[in-house]
Amino acid sequence: MTSQSTCTTCPYCGTGCGVLATPNGAGGLTVTGDPEHPANFGRLCSKGSALGETVSTDHRLLAPQIGDSSASWDEALSLVAEKFRIAADDHGPDSVAFYVSGQLLTEDYYVANKLMKGYIGSGNIDTNSRLCMASTVAGHKRAFGTDTVPGAYEDLELADLVILTGSNLAWCHPVLYQRIAAAKAARPTMQVVVIDPRRTATCDLSDMHLAIQPGTDVALFNHLLTQSHAKGATDLTFISQSLSGFAEALDTANKTDVAVTGLNQEQLSEFSNLWVSTEKSVTVFSQGVNQSDHGADKVNAIINCHLATGRIGKPGCGPFSVTGQPNAMGGREVGGLANTLACHLDIENPVHRVSVQSFWNAPTIAESQGLKAVDMFEAVGTGKIKALWVMGTNPAVSMPNASKVRAAMSNCDFVVVSDMFGTTDTARLADVVLPATGWGEKEGTVTNSDRTISRQRAILPVPSDARHDWQIICDVAKYMGFTEGFRFSSPLDIFREHAALSGLAAKLGKDFDISGLAQISDVEYQSMKPVKWPVSSRGKTPNQRFFSDGQFFTPDRRAKMIPVRQPHLPQMLEPPQFRLNTGRIRDQWHTMSRTGQSPRLNQHYGEPFLEIHPSDAIQLGLVEADLVKVSNPFGSVVLRALVTDRISQGQVFAPIHWTGETAANSVVSDLVAPDVDPVSGQPDSKSAYVSLSKF
Ligand code: SF4
Repeated sequence: MTSQSTCTTCPYCGTGCGVLATPNGAGGLTVTGDPEHPANFGRLCSKGSALGETVSTDHRLLAPQIGDSSASWDEALSLVAEKFRIAADDHGPDSVAFYVSGQLLTEDYYVANKLMKGYIGSGNIDTNSRLCMASTVAGHKRAFGTDTVPGAYEDLELADLVILTGSNLAWCHPVLYQRIAAAKAARPTMQVVVIDPRRTATCDLSDMHLAIQPGTDVALFNHLLTQSHAKGATDLTFISQSLSGFAEALDTANKTDVAVTGLNQEQLSEFSNLWVSTEKSVTVFSQGVNQSDHGADKVNAIINCHLATGRIGKPGCGPFSVTGQPNAMGGREVGGLANTLACHLDIENPVHRVSVQSFWNAPTIAESQGLKAVDMFEAVGTGKIKALWVMGTNPAVSMPNASKVRAAMSNCDFVVVSDMFGTTDTARLADVVLPATGWGEKEGTVTNSDRTISRQRAILPVPSDARHDWQIICDVAKYMGFTEGFRFSSPLDIFREHAALSGLAAKLGKDFDISGLAQISDVEYQSMKPVKWPVSSRGKTPNQRFFSDGQFFTPDRRAKMIPVRQPHLPQMLEPPQFRLNTGRIRDQWHTMSRTGQSPRLNQHYGEPFLEIHPSDAIQLGLVEADLVKVSNPFGSVVLRALVTDRISQGQVFAPIHWTGETAANSVVSDLVAPDVDPVSGQPDSKSAYVSLSKF
């Protein structure tokens, strides 16, 4: 680290790596891994190390836009405030909505949530994290009583068995993959099992790859539960003292037909024997589990196995959700989901609502859950939502059935977008676009997948007339007449208030507690090192992991095992019908607005593609690099065929990143049905049914 280096955090995945950013004297940055950050200890992946190539302001939005014209901040803010106030006055608070992002910093998220739930008085704030890990939130809350990630990254290294399910960690959380790879190299007895219908890059590390049929995770983990009990691996003391629902969950698991997984008896036995005989086990799960119409049940099937065997709250043990976005966890903490309140408090709980309203000294408080992402855009389409504010995300491309979402926004009375770029597919549909600062220009905090709160720090000047998201939100609040609750002069002011509110949440029995940071001084905040919560003001030692005492956050302090059933699967498809899986590639991020600027990152894959099995390709008369039309009732895209046996017959895979801007007609999410998990509201992005034909 040089004297000019600044410690900050990578803005991409939920690993939350620390980076050292140093101005290169030509307006850019040199970026290296922070050797002292506990997420990465100096490691970076291709995306993080290319950050310095992505800070150009060449295509940035540098002034507010009303329609096609530049406007002053005063004009733009007045218009936004007026439109939201009129809609709320004339049609009620539930006629307006915010759609926010796991890219926002915690302080941005906090004031957005405060404005919508405490001042406008609606629950209609939801986040693109709904598409990412809402099923985990629901699964955690059902099992633990609150949305707690039990373990820490070091558990991935301490485990004797790491199970990766629905997670291409090698590409989507590369530094965590590197950490496991290094641990396995140092201790080759460590076993890695990958459960994934595709043979992904993560399988390079695996001792066992279980290519299950898509959507059969519940059957597999129910089988694991029954085998654990049959083979004496269940922890009867832990079950009697710390759990409820064991008998019901086991009974349901016993009725599950594991044959639907498509695995043979030898594979099933090998896997269950490994699990039964390996006490120090971690199960890492991500979007392949979450993005499902029964994602919460998948999460609970995994958690059930860990609870029944007592493999939680101990070194090298636990179910472990890895989040897709840099601050999905921060968003969960402030209550940025439509069905949560703030600091993990419950919106359905009147005591929690009154407590938060009183703490905020707010004129009102949302009385009930707001609209979750899919329902929110549905309501935009039907005209129920009259004014919509999209912050730092691109739902016109990323939402399921994206063409319908674009049509809905086109017809909405008033859409405002705050973003770094005025050219995104979503910004083009807006009545007002507000220029926001981005990574390297703004200050605040983020929380990664293992509850570590890290600072993001500004290294670059604010370009032209851009403003920070927290400032824009507070300004709109003031223009709406809410002066008192938004007199923040810095992100630190907001951080202190959030930390103080968490102390109240802790008193109400919640896990999220950073009240020990509520009095943090300016100097301490500037030099703040990464810290894992809880950080209580009540003198409790911060825990590396939760639940080591066998106590949970449910009313009876017991964890709850949830009986989960494997849903019926649709019939096997025959060509030209296929099951479409979607996901990320190694070197791109979301809709590529930042990573697309790096020539180095664009070399990995230069255009969108469709993975298809060689036998299926022959049947369709396709050869490598042919163009394929992929269609269903929701839309169609044209993709380049990538013929590979990484994918099983009957299934195809396409990456999510490319937009209509960069490759004609290639918005993959146009093909995804808006089917959601009834528990979590998370859409199923892994199993669209499509027809293929040579283009
Ligand atoms: Fe950034 Fe994730 Fe790569 Fe770390 S692993 S450098 S957080 S993209």
